[in-house]
Amino acid sequence: MLSLIKLPRVFTINQVPKVFHEDSIISGYRHPRSSATDCILSLFQMTNETLNIWTHFLPTWYFLWKVVTVVLMQTAWQDSFTWPMVIFLLTCCIYPLASSCAHTFSSMSARARHICFFFDYGALSFYSLGSAIVYSAYVFPDKWVNSSFHQYYITIAVFNSVICTNLACYSRLGLPFLQYNHDSLKRFLEFQHPKFSKLFRVIAFAYPYLFDSIPLFYRVFLCVGEGCTDNDTNILHYHHIALAFLTGFLFATHLPERLAPGSFDYIGHSHQLFHVCAILGTHFQMQALEQDMVTRHPWLVENSTPITFGNSVGPVLLCVVLNLAIIFLYSLPLLLHPVCKEKKCSTGPKKDKLCLHS
Ligand SMILES: [Zn+2]
Repeated sequence: MLSLIKLPRVFTINQVPKVFHEDSIISGYRHPRSSATDCILSLFQMTNETLNIWTHFLPTWYFLWKVVTVVLMQTAWQDSFTWPMVIFLLTCCIYPLASSCAHTFSSMSARARHICFFFDYGALSFYSLGSAIVYSAYVFPDKWVNSSFHQYYITIAVFNSVICTNLACYSRLGLPFLQYNHDSLKRFLEFQHPKFSKLFRVIAFAYPYLFDSIPLFYRVFLCVGEGCTDNDTNILHYHHIALAFLTGFLFATHLPERLAPGSFDYIGHSHQLFHVCAILGTHFQMQALEQDMVTRHPWLVENSTPITFGNSVGPVLLCVVLNLAIIFLYSLPLLLHPVCKEKKCSTGPKKDKLCLHS
């Protein structure tokens, strides 16, 4: 039966436009004008994206199952104390789902690729806010609960989310309308300054994580004496922190493929490892949070600010609206004139024409 389905062929790096190139990945590229059906079929053939897709698609279902169990088992609707956990778990479903969709459909065109990854960045930013909301509810050490920093923590996290989605989207093409529109690029950051582009993206992902983790790092690494919340959960937090740093290291360094370009095209390249480490890190983070939520419940209910719409669901809705607006703004110039006229594209310097990369 499978032999009746003709799988699309794959290409080498020299056969696809530069916008599709991945650092030190030589082969296994899909057609740069794949149809949506070809993109879905590519899930079942070995390309350099196949494991990127599966390593985030399967965990989406695992996290979705966790949401369902928390909602059903802990009667989350009645007890606002569990709302931050439900929000966090939803963001844990959305970021791998957005990522697997982005990796699946990114080979439809250059425009589709940019827009797909804008959504991917927005989802990661959203996950950062989910982490901030859940940390605010269950992770802050006793002595920091109700401090000024605690009171402004979620507001700053919403602000960070907006800044970082902007920065990550900016790292691809520059500023919409000012630096690129439907068929021209004044400055294609990824091509002309690849190091800056990468640096901006690393900052956009690392900074919100580091900010969110301030109360956790203080609790597990620095705090001494009373009110430090030094409990059994800390070991799970250590696992999660170690995996988070490994995730960042893999993303930033492109190891191991940098050492042997072409040897890890299909299996074992840094992006796959980055996905796996991110998911394992999120798994340990979730376990630690569940444990903190249960063991600290009586103390937190008595001493911390109660969970309300204003410090849980409200910021999440605001973040969704603002992030979607940013993604829309960065995508708009690419969507306004989706059909590229062949004649127009064939003139002018290559690097200035977006359609030549499509
Ligand atoms: Zn990815």
